[in-house]
Amino acid sequence: MLRSAARPDDIRRHNLGLLLEEIHRHGELSRAELTQRLGLNRSTIGVLVADLTELGLVSEFVPSRRDRAGRPSHMVGPSGDGPFAVAVDIEVDRVASAAVGLTGQVLNRQESTLEPSERGASHVAGVIASHVKSLIAGAAGESWPVGVGISVPGTVTRDGLCISLSPNLNWRDLAFAAMIADRLHEEQPVQLPIELGNDADLGVMAEHLRGAARDCEDVVYLTGRIGVGAGIVTNGVALRGHDGRAGEIGHVVLDPAGPLCHCGNRGCAETYIGQAAVLATVGQKAGTTSSAAAWLQSLVRSGDEAAITGLRSIANPLGRTLANLVNVLNPQRVVLGGLLAAVIEVAQEDVEAALNKHAFDTAHGSLQLCGAGLGQDSSLLGAAELAFKGLLANPFSRP
Ligand SMILES: [Zn+2]
Repeated sequence: MLRSAARPDDIRRHNLGLLLEEIHRHGELSRAELTQRLGLNRSTIGVLVADLTELGLVSEFVPSRRDRAGRPSHMVGPSGDGPFAVAVDIEVDRVASAAVGLTGQVLNRQESTLEPSERGASHVAGVIASHVKSLIAGAAGESWPVGVGISVPGTVTRDGLCISLSPNLNWRDLAFAAMIADRLHEEQPVQLPIELGNDADLGVMAEHLRGAARDCEDVVYLTGRIGVGAGIVTNGVALRGHDGRAGEIGHVVLDPAGPLCHCGNRGCAETYIGQAAVLATVGQKAGTTSSAAAWLQSLVRSGDEAAITGLRSIANPLGRTLANLVNVLNPQRVVLGGLLAAVIEVAQEDVEAALNKHAFDTAHGSLQLCGAGLGQDSSLLGAAELAFKGLLANPFSRP
């Protein structure tokens, strides 16, 4: 919206950012829809679209098919040769990276598995740098990278530059963005902004923007990976906590006499619903497959009885973990990612029964449980959002 007491350049930049944000969120929109959504008049929208077109960020076209009588409104969409984000998703046993277009479409992918001996921060930084270079080199036409967003299985400092603790990788206090920047600059002067985020926080961001929680302002996303974390959006706003450590639901103690957790406590939720525990129920050991979640989902969909029975045994601890979340946060929806999406697919009723047994007064609530809308890409697409942030705030800021 137009702000008073602002300089004309500020107003223009602000409005360009708002228009670009609409395209970023919703994809192609007609000029008429943009006029309505932004509350600006038609001629102002025309000028803003022309500016963004000149910057190479959007393009306009006339739809060939007419749904209504009369002159069709011009459509505005992302430029085919426009900006893209380089998104990176670090898991304990693999790194997945992608070039992601302005409207969240994956344009190109890279993936590397990490053997136990390859999980040092220096090696992983090298893998990421090679992915980034390769994705940039393979980009189409005149398109250009706006930045690098990196999803981390651990806690990240508020400035998004350092990893505080990644327990499953055994990384602590690392200036990881600088490590990546050093490697990118080794061969070529790639000066891209680099920002880190926690995998669960980025997962909920992407599910809220483009996935299973688009219409929902109070949502929790649970990563179902080697570690289990919760990304939280409450009243439409991300909740990160004072030091960015909110949502470490994997270390809520379900049974003080339970199995030893790597954090030093006993009976943490992660020891019951983390990847090692889930794979054990289907007769697999952790680390034997690089993308355990995709593999498990394919077993479930092929009707593998042993896998389905194994996953059902996770329903009770998952329901109890969710009860803790629900008692504290009262979300409208919980979105389950990774391996936990497969559990909910085969055992939704059992999970809900355990949840209702342990949560306070769910009879009066309307909690919805569902699998991730973005499949295994929730955290990856959230990382792309980190990279797009600067461009959306200032569409003139081409790196
Ligand atoms: Zn623990």
